[in-house]
Amino acid sequence: MTRGAETLCSPLPMRITMVKKRLASGETCRKCAQAEELLRSRGLWDRIDEVVWADEADPASPGNELGARFGVSLAPFFIVRDDGQSPIVYESVLKLIQERLASPPTRLESPDAVDVETVARELGDRHPSEILRWGLERWGKALGIAFSGAEDVVVVHMASEMGFPLSVFCLDTGRLHPETYRFIDAVRRRYKVEIDLMAPDAPKLESFVKRKGLFSFYDDGHGECCGVRKVEPLQRALGKLRAWATGQRRDQSPSTRSAIAVVERDSTFSGISGAPLVKLNPLASWTSGQVWQYIRENGVPFNSLHERGFISIGCEPCTRATLPGEHERAGRWWWEEATKRECGLHS
Ligand code: SF4
Repeated sequence: MTRGAETLCSPLPMRITMVKKRLASGETCRKCAQAEELLRSRGLWDRIDEVVWADEADPASPGNELGARFGVSLAPFFIVRDDGQSPIVYESVLKLIQERLASPPTRLESPDAVDVETVARELGDRHPSEILRWGLERWGKALGIAFSGAEDVVVVHMASEMGFPLSVFCLDTGRLHPETYRFIDAVRRRYKVEIDLMAPDAPKLESFVKRKGLFSFYDDGHGECCGVRKVEPLQRALGKLRAWATGQRRDQSPSTRSAIAVVERDSTFSGISGAPLVKLNPLASWTSGQVWQYIRENGVPFNSLHERGFISIGCEPCTRATLPGEHERAGRWWWEEATKRECGLHS
């Protein structure tokens, strides 16, 4: 055995070496300890075949030699060797998990088989990440995360932190703020995730705009425009899925969202081949304050519109900044009755 190395077991042909840093004080560096903790919490620690130490006080220690050989200066890092392949180095434990260790769910449970009422009761007071994990473990990429370009980014962040391969989609109505488009792209780059931008059906949109112009919602309500630009693309996105996760919260709208469950059967939309869909609302019981505390404490990126008084963010012509003391939904379709301020995505 190499000096400074401890060997762990793995039945797989792929071999993974983790290089950890030992500080001059003898302690393990904090980032290395966090990486190990993450692997253990995901049940992936036994996939690490070998741990090699880079001793701060000993430039000739095996980990430091590996760092010099692979051109890496910061531990932790991981060297993955597949039979007959050149070794690949991962400097991010999340990337290692996503690309090499996360396996698709073995069950792909039928949404029909889920007793949603019981699950909702059991998960009702759990942390949002546990609710999300429950869904991701069952459906993997067949669970789509609906990202609106607002503070529901925390759902993307939580899922990414768990290291599952992600499926994220966004409804590109064509009427979003420039800031929102920039934010969506920033999220794509930050989390290294493909975001499926669902555009409206072109012939339907052309026909609608030709008949009614670009601002008909101010005259006869947002229903028809949202139908073309949001609801139909959402149905298309959901048609490839078994479950989806939203950023809905009960405190967002006392009149329309006060009773949403953390897990429910989607009563409006269907999934693959018309099958039932399970809908997860992991943030249901969180308040806006909790969401923003999480964003600040975890360095989660956010839409710059939030710094200009926008709380709820939707399409540019239908969203305005709110005044102090106004409820967040007051900034959406403000010319309509409060009970109609939903776009048909969460009926
Ligand atoms: S929010 Fe406004 S612009 Fe966007 S789809 Fe609905 S009505 Fe159309």
